[in-house]
Amino acid sequence: MHWSFRLVRIFGIEIKIHVTFFLLLAWIGWLYHRSGGTPAAIDGVLFVILIFVCVLLHELGHALAAAHFGIKTPDITLLPIGGVARLERIPEKPSEEIAVTVAGPAVNIIIAAVLWIAIGLTSGFPDPQTLQQTELPMSVRLFAVNIWLVIFNAIPAFPMDGGRLLRALLALRMDYARATQIAASIGHGIAFLFFIVGLWWNPMLILIAVFVYFGASSEAAMAQMRSISKGLRVSGAMVTKFEALPLAATLHEAVDALLRTSQHEFPVTDQDGQVRGILTRDDMIAALRKSGPETPVGEVMRTNIPSVPQSMLFDRAFAVMQQCSCPALPVLDSLGRLVGLFTPENVGEMIMVQSALGARGRAVRSRAA
Ligand SMILES: [Zn+2]
Repeated sequence: MHWSFRLVRIFGIEIKIHVTFFLLLAWIGWLYHRSGGTPAAIDGVLFVILIFVCVLLHELGHALAAAHFGIKTPDITLLPIGGVARLERIPEKPSEEIAVTVAGPAVNIIIAAVLWIAIGLTSGFPDPQTLQQTELPMSVRLFAVNIWLVIFNAIPAFPMDGGRLLRALLALRMDYARATQIAASIGHGIAFLFFIVGLWWNPMLILIAVFVYFGASSEAAMAQMRSISKGLRVSGAMVTKFEALPLAATLHEAVDALLRTSQHEFPVTDQDGQVRGILTRDDMIAALRKSGPETPVGEVMRTNIPSVPQSMLFDRAFAVMQQCSCPALPVLDSLGRLVGLFTPENVGEMIMVQSALGARGRAVRSRAA
């Protein structure tokens, strides 16, 4: 994720924090300072930091459960809206997904239980009559936060844990894509309900509704892609007829290639045939305006684009492309030679073709039945 800082490394997992999180801290500090001076500001900021420690432990719960099934978690990012553990892949078996999903909220239940015992042993819980006042001890507030995290995550809608749990439970009885579709529809229904209730009651619910709506949609799209491309390799879907530009070529030559072909992205190679970057149509036009047709393409091309082996699974390559938001990925053979281009158009066409074939297969099967 862009604009994130590395904080620490725990169990080989990079813990990152998004820059907006510091804005949240500054805002909370300022808000509390206005009402209660420096002690209140310190208390408020400390409370927010402790909330995020609980969120981090929740995400570590997911990550460690995933590690148990041999799935790595490269990083966990803390955002003002919560944490995101980026798992290398989704567990294959529904039973594994259930375990990984439940592990997060289970951590919060443990924290809440520990706090509950600690509060009981020390000051005791405050009288419910006084609960409306803000002067609650930190331990009681943190207890409430952990209970809230469990309840919030139990909402059966993506991207909450409840949505994943629902999908995994459905997947025990049907195929993964269908289970995701049903779970996503339920998520859309919940988003709609939250939106309506939010209009009358609490604007915060509208925000959650939007969050849930997009979460459900993207999860459904990802599951559809995964089921369509199951077992498919990059080599089966890449563009193999394309032009590459030599490193020494000028923008003038690049424009010629742009007009001559239907390509929008051009790999740029050195004299050994190694890929050095990708030149996009938009970058080409922008540079043409700025520095003229004699500019070498090597000065304009994007160089931070990863290449993928042709044997890579289609959905993995798609994830790589999404993560770097790359316009195209160069595809290499086992000797490191450029043999193809993997583009968003490829992915779109592949989905269209495969879903047409899938629909036809279903029609044939239902006729047979
Ligand atoms: Zn979770």
